[in-house]
Amino acid sequence: MSSTPPPTNGAHVVDAVSDAPPDALGSPEADLGFGTRAIHAGQAPDPTTGAIMTPVYLTSTYVQEAPDVHKGYDYARVGNPTRTALEANLASLEGAAHGVAFASGVAGIDAILRRLRPGDHVVSTNDLYGGTYRLMRQVWEPFGVEFTFVDLGSPDDLDAAITDATKLVWIETPTNPLLRVYDIAALCDVAHACGVDVAVDNTFASPYLQTPLALGADLVLHSTTKYLGGHSDVVGGAVLTSSDEWADHLRFQIKAAGAAPGPLDCFLLLRATKTLHLRMERHCQNARAVAHFLRGHDGVARVMWPGFEDHPAHDVAARQMRDFGGMVSLVLEDDEVETAVRFMQALRVFSLAESLGGVESLVSHPSTMTHGSIPGDVRRAAGLPDSLVRLSVGVEDEADLVADLDRALASL
Ligand SMILES: *Cc1c(COP(=O)(O)O)cnc(C)c1O
Repeated sequence: MSSTPPPTNGAHVVDAVSDAPPDALGSPEADLGFGTRAIHAGQAPDPTTGAIMTPVYLTSTYVQEAPDVHKGYDYARVGNPTRTALEANLASLEGAAHGVAFASGVAGIDAILRRLRPGDHVVSTNDLYGGTYRLMRQVWEPFGVEFTFVDLGSPDDLDAAITDATKLVWIETPTNPLLRVYDIAALCDVAHACGVDVAVDNTFASPYLQTPLALGADLVLHSTTKYLGGHSDVVGGAVLTSSDEWADHLRFQIKAAGAAPGPLDCFLLLRATKTLHLRMERHCQNARAVAHFLRGHDGVARVMWPGFEDHPAHDVAARQMRDFGGMVSLVLEDDEVETAVRFMQALRVFSLAESLGGVESLVSHPSTMTHGSIPGDVRRAAGLPDSLVRLSVGVEDEADLVADLDRALASL
């Protein structure tokens, strides 16, 4: 590609900056199933070469015919055709009018929070990704934005927490790592009655299992590092919305503050979303088997998985999710941190690592890893025991995962 002239921006990518997302099948996207959209939305064969995959546009600038006369791209911090394809793909999967991709999940959260001003107030779930908590408390609170963290299990508690200054409600469901499930539609009703916008971190469910915009949310945040990327090889984020005002704000933040993803990362994500539906089905099936196995084992005291009928919000999960996801948390009968650590180290197929959502199974210890930046007393008050173990159940063979857990439990 380096010796050939730079490809003209193909019709499909130019289309992508107009209102209508490009569509390889030339059909109204709403009529297409999830798998078809996962594979085709935002992408069409490259008109200059016929390449079926969207090229990786490794370019920082674009030649202009005259000053400010160009094919929709001028400088790559602001836009890149590979990124445009990814944004249209993710927007289609979430049923959004707009998608904005970021260099990481937290960069996407940060860009949302940049719409707030000193004195503004946010109500957030109290069981949430540790990095979101850190960003809110350690970066945005010093600028005068106020946060209240509550268990959003009851919409009445959200109503009580909203003040005249509240501008945003932040929901994570299923929650990390306790796998609580919150009723997105009910919470959106309460927030909207107060004129407050709602953002949902949909990282744990992925758009295959849950589409918050259809339930009333104004914004969806993804750490694309997780299920959307799916192969533990890329860090990224995305915000999806059908609000023009929010989309303008987010695009302005990319342009002004620069948290843009690189084109190769966008390509890896485009490649990954093509199999999202296949991977999620196996993640859910394996997690179901793992959850039931653990629950039936004498060495395990508690198993958290929204698919259990006695999960406190099982009916909500069954209503707003297509299946119950690939995450399972547990507390051992011997409720000591050292025992939990020995258990994690005894696993062979599950690897001890941060992160989740990849094809490979991972085990982690939230209180020292992903949630280490939340003070211990705050964690425990939110119901997160220090001995909790979190599993990201991968897409390996179910029998091998269960055998691995069985062996590690027997070794304690
Ligand atoms: C990982 C994660 C994030 C942060 O995303 P990064 O891509 O790591 O910046 C946000 N929310 C949830 C639920 C996550 O798991």
